[in-house]
Amino acid sequence: MQPVVSLPGCGARTAEKLAARGIVSVQDLWLHLPLRYEDRTRVVPIRSLVPGEPAQFEGRVEAVESGFRFRPQLKVAVSDESGATVLLRFFHFHRAQVAAFAVGRRIRCYGEVRPGAHGLECVHPSYRLLGDDRNEPLPDGLDPVYPAVEGVGAPTLARLIGAAIARLPDDAAPELLPPELRARLGLPGLREALAVAHRPPPETDLAALAEGRHPALRRLILEELLAHHISLRRQRIALKAEGAQPLRTHGRLAERLLATLPFSLTAAQRRVFAECRADLAEPSPMLRLVQGDVGSGKTVVAALAALLAVEAGRQVALMAPTELLAEQHLANFRTWLEPLGVRVQWLAGKLAGRARTAALEAIADGSAQVVVGTHALMQAGVVFHDLALAIVDEQHRFGVHQRLALRDKGASGSQVPHQLVMTATPIPRTLAMTAYADLDVSVLDELPPGRTPVQTVAVSAERRAEVVARIRAACAEGRQAYWVCTLIEDSDEVEAQAAQTTYERLAAQLPELRVGLVHGRLKAAAKQEVMRAFKARELDVLVATTVIEVGVDVPNASLMLIENAERLGLAQLHQLRGRVGRGAAASSCVLLYQPPLSAMARERIEAMRASSDGFFIAEKDLELRGPGELLGTRQTGLAAFRVADLARDAALLPAVRECADLLLAEAPERADRLVARWVGGAARYAGA
Ligand code: ADP
Ligand code: MG
Repeated sequence: MQPVVSLPGCGARTAEKLAARGIVSVQDLWLHLPLRYEDRTRVVPIRSLVPGEPAQFEGRVEAVESGFRFRPQLKVAVSDESGATVLLRFFHFHRAQVAAFAVGRRIRCYGEVRPGAHGLECVHPSYRLLGDDRNEPLPDGLDPVYPAVEGVGAPTLARLIGAAIARLPDDAAPELLPPELRARLGLPGLREALAVAHRPPPETDLAALAEGRHPALRRLILEELLAHHISLRRQRIALKAEGAQPLRTHGRLAERLLATLPFSLTAAQRRVFAECRADLAEPSPMLRLVQGDVGSGKTVVAALAALLAVEAGRQVALMAPTELLAEQHLANFRTWLEPLGVRVQWLAGKLAGRARTAALEAIADGSAQVVVGTHALMQAGVVFHDLALAIVDEQHRFGVHQRLALRDKGASGSQVPHQLVMTATPIPRTLAMTAYADLDVSVLDELPPGRTPVQTVAVSAERRAEVVARIRAACAEGRQAYWVCTLIEDSDEVEAQAAQTTYERLAAQLPELRVGLVHGRLKAAAKQEVMRAFKARELDVLVATTVIEVGVDVPNASLMLIENAERLGLAQLHQLRGRVGRGAAASSCVLLYQPPLSAMARERIEAMRASSDGFFIAEKDLELRGPGELLGTRQTGLAAFRVADLARDAALLPAVRECADLLLAEAPERADRLVARWVGGAARYAGA
């Protein structure tokens, strides 16, 4: 495969930045597909702009006003011959920018308008000031908007991708799908599919492209799903063949743990533990996924499984995606296992110096029976004495490949450790068969008794003051609250900025409360410190971005506010809501939304109010993410897919399995190339 540096204008530095995102070859660039497109091929009269629909418009600057009340703001009124006006609003701007907006200047903007207090508004449009020449040319193809690659400017990235596409050979060499299958499904060849996906001609049905219904996209989606599916099946076959040490014990330690727990297991927990136990007794490795809604009690099942391995005299590793989650597991495992005489060892990136050396020694000599930690468990210096069971929590944050890396840690001779994967992302069974084709699936479909359901309400952002009063009331009673700011753009930085602004505002409005802030741009240590303080009740309110989504457990928090809830998909809303309702107190979740709600957003919010059952929510999610809904198409969270969305593309799954059978039987070398094309890069990307 040709490396990216073979493209004109791609220097070593750019190549390095691309490589950090998993883009190494020209082929990887083909597959760096646009997130969306911008139609700048026409100019829409301001009068005809539709709220919520991005469009290009142009006009003259009527008035300019910049102010610094509450926060910096620049307002520019633009109107066109249709007599209508749009108010442009900027919250980040330079002085020079303000000066350039001279009254009377012609301006061409691209953005999404929404109704404001005095007519249409457009926040942070992209814009260009025009000369007085009336006939500024319009482009003749749609502009692709690519997922950003840090350190590579958007224009450079677009140019390199264009050059990579131009190199696509005309011959059939890169075509890997069986022609008869392609013909039957009405799918174009690779070259044509990529050309349309990257630079659709103006007449292209954009909605069909965005929703993955367009044949060009369907072709790529099928290919990607197929590559992942084949790769998983290969892994499963290879792993099962390697064999594992059967763990057959009386289960005495597990019994002792059960006797000391302040609760008895739910029927679902007993069933899933039995399934694990049966797997562990086999001479081939357990490859099991435990799916269970937030709060269904996965941790204790993992602890019980761990005890089977410990009783057999072997080692166990438990890996969680964040230090925060890993620490929670550590606390639980210490409470549960240490009274039984089991040594639980901590290992995370932060652990340094002598403590680290001691930890590594204990892991290497086997005195650490259960090791709990983060990615650090996979580092080169970590050598297990006798790893028999690798447990991975919240698997979608890791991706398959990292899970395999942990498995490799335990490989000795021809044997590999048993694997137990836990996830809180409930997915319907047909999807699970493809998404987790390498795993057997167990489902914890029952919540422990005695939970008070979280009361969910939807409140318009106009009633923000009432919500703030509600926080004051909850905190006065000694409870704690989360305030979650959601993704505004596909950018950490903008999201962090929004959280910062909300934080300052809330801190000013609630001077008697201790307000904290956590977002993805903070250093790990700072993040941890804020979370620790919140957990220790040193903070009343935690303003956060969606970084707190996974697994955080602060039982005293009883109020969850989600700002701009209409922007999130159901799965994510459900995860966030799962952060409250963990203690005995009645909890509530407030979905703050920006009116007007689209029909789809309204249904999502209705579904959230109607049910707290993760599987119901998942089914509903699948149903709602139909045509018309762009939101959430790239956030399956199940794997680092580039184009596919398991929920949306479920209908393709039978074809995926059929095609996999065909390729594996008749053209295994093509199956290999397909996996290399799609999964080789994705593996690196998933690690980012
Ligand atoms: P999750 O599945 O989201 O990881 P956890 O394992 O964190 O859930 O469990 C959530 C809470 O429920 C924990 O405080 C745990 O101790 C408790 N729990 C687990 N199983 C039961 C049970 N059978 N009865 C009562 N409480 C339970
Ligand atoms: Mg958990």
